[in-house]
Amino acid sequence: MKKDDCIFCRIAAGEIPSATVYEDEGFRAILDLGPAAKGHMLILPKDHYADVTELPEECAGPVLMLGKKLGMAAMKGLGATGFNLVQNNGASAGQTVRHFHLHVIPRYDDGAVIAAWTPGENTAEEREEIAQAVRAGLE
Ligand code: AMP
Ligand code: ZN
Repeated sequence: MKKDDCIFCRIAAGEIPSATVYEDEGFRAILDLGPAAKGHMLILPKDHYADVTELPEECAGPVLMLGKKLGMAAMKGLGATGFNLVQNNGASAGQTVRHFHLHVIPRYDDGAVIAAWTPGENTAEEREEIAQAVRAGLE
């Protein structure tokens, strides 16, 4: 279902113009206005889901396959040598637009560092405690 006050719903529906690279019944893929790299795309489901926690299973497979297809198209069409599929959930994870979207970020051999982190440290005991807490979260 579309949400009238959601900008990505309106872009996906074609009410707000966008540089569309792909469209089908369920999705529209557009160029990001603030690209991390040349050809940075966003895949938007036409139905409104705030983030992955609301995404239904029948949408999850196709969106990943579309990410693969568009990433490969960027390699062929733009000369990218790799690509990242990135998807943020929640403000603390960097999500700024609360309509599920999958970033497809083409990467180039001389490109900037994106999505890097400094590896932390932990002990075997800490890892076991953390794993236990996550397993409890599965219940
Ligand atoms: P996120 O931080 O994962 O929520 O990503 C939101 C992305 O949407 C950012 O990369 C923005 O540059 C991009 N963005 C925001 N508004 C628009 C818009 N109207 N058209 C295209 N991209 C947009
Ligand atoms: Zn929406």
